This record gives sequence, structure tokens and C-alpha cells, in this order.
Amino acid sequence: MKEVTKLLIREFKIKELGYDFLGYSLQKGDIYTFHHLIIPARFGGKEVKWNGAVLCGKTAHPYLHVIENKDYEMFCYLTSEMIDMNIKGQLDIENLRRIHDLLETFEKHYSGSRTSKGKVLIKEEYTKRAKLWKIKRIKRTYIIVLGIDVKDALNKENVKKKLTRSQTCIKIGSDNYDW
Ligand SMILES: [Zn+2]
Repeated sequence: MKEVTKLLIREFKIKELGYDFLGYSLQKGDIYTFHHLIIPARFGGKEVKWNGAVLCGKTAHPYLHVIENKDYEMFCYLTSEMIDMNIKGQLDIENLRRIHDLLETFEKHYSGSRTSKGKVLIKEEYTKRAKLWKIKRIKRTYIIVLGIDVKDALNKENVKKKLTRSQTCIKIGSDNYDW
């Protein structure tokens, strides 16, 4: 593995968190890879910290480039979220939530699509992301219902259902995403 990838993994606590810049967990037999964020390799972009994101080599990384080819605007939105985290120096749950929503939008639009060679465009493994955002979102809903963020709560569906689930989460209550 490249030194810069190792550096990014360390600085962004990828191993401790268990997910990459797009919220993917490393699967067996896969490795983390370096993705050029701002200046692509084809334009001579360097493999340095400010220009990089860590992505799982068999899921997030190829998937992102599928998106780049199919929907360049979507790719730019995703890139923008990753650049934001790179600048912040940490993987941020708010960015990861927006990333998840963007990916979900892409998946709704292109579900069932095939490549020019007749292969499935969105492989099944591309749709499996870490569930941490869900847990956080549920916790957030709980706080919302307590009246801290009422405006947001009005936009949510099934608040009641989520509240019940969130209460369970709160009881377990931890910032450790593994549970
Ligand atoms: Zn790449």
C-alpha cells in the first residue's frame, strides 16, 4: 500500500471507525485505495494528503467512478463532501449522511440499469454501506422530538416509530458505532 494511503488511514482514523470516505466498510480480501479528490491522476494530480480520499478498492472506489461516468454532477457533489472532510481533517457524520443520501438518489435513478456490455451497473456490494449514519440519525430524531430541533422534526416521517427505536438506542447509548 502507498505511504500516502497509510497516512490518510491513520490521520482519518479509518481503521478505528471502520468505514471509508464514502461510508463503506472494508470487506474480506479488499484493501483501502487512494482516490484523487481535486486534481485527477489523468491531469497529473499528485498523491498527497490534500488531494486524497481513502476508498475501499472493490466497492466504494469503482462505484464512485461508475457514478463519475454516468452522472458527473452527482460525482461532483460527492467529491465536494469528501473534500470538505479532507479539509476538516476528519470523517464527519453530517457529510456521510449527505453522501448516503446522494448515493441513494443515484441508486433509485439507475437501479436495474446495465452497462454497454450488459453487466449490472450498480453491483450489489456497491449498495452495502456502514449503518452508522442510521444510528446517528435515529439518535438525532430523539433529540429533535425532545424539542431541540423541531423544524427538522416536521420534515421527518414516522417520527413516532423512530422515537421508540431511538429510545432503545439511547439506552444502549454510546458513540461506538460498532453496536
Ligand atoms: Zn479514483
